[in-house]
Amino acid sequence: MILPIRAFGDPVLRKVGKDIDKDYPGLQELIDNMFETMYSANGIGLAAPQIGLDIRMFIVDVTPLAEDEDYEDIAEELKDFKKVFINAQILEESGEEWKFNEGCLSIPDVREDVKRKSTIVIEYFDENFVKHTETFSDIRARVIQHEYDHIEGTLFTDHLSSLKKKLVKGKLVKISQGDVSINYKMRFPK
Ligand SMILES: [Zn+2]
Repeated sequence: MILPIRAFGDPVLRKVGKDIDKDYPGLQELIDNMFETMYSANGIGLAAPQIGLDIRMFIVDVTPLAEDEDYEDIAEELKDFKKVFINAQILEESGEEWKFNEGCLSIPDVREDVKRKSTIVIEYFDENFVKHTETFSDIRARVIQHEYDHIEGTLFTDHLSSLKKKLVKGKLVKISQGDVSINYKMRFPK
């Protein structure tokens, strides 16, 4: 089932997610619905707050990027990179900061360069509640960092300079009022 994606301004996007356990009601169905919702919007990541739940879960599927010539060198790594992250904790971020032009399904039509460190160590449970501690870098780390922010109540626009924030403010207000054209299902706060 495709769920409506919560737009900028929805208070759920500002909540810090709570841990869940393996008995969380309807967990598998929720995961399936999140993937279906993400694909319907051509996203490569989606976090639970974006569908209205303040829990520590997000999904990523960067396999479409394996076809992209920008990622030729890591196509092999990207082509199976589809994962569920539950109760995630980033343990360490290291390496050079690099800029990437980020966007967000909750903030349509806004794209801005964001600087983040290149490598992360993250502890999480997968969809079968098996615990992992793994290191990721490149675009994989980037997508995880963006989604991880969501379960901490942070949005990519929070990372912009104060000047850039001023420049996008009008657009953000419009999004929160539903004044934006989109081709996927969204729910607006007002
Ligand atoms: Zn996002």
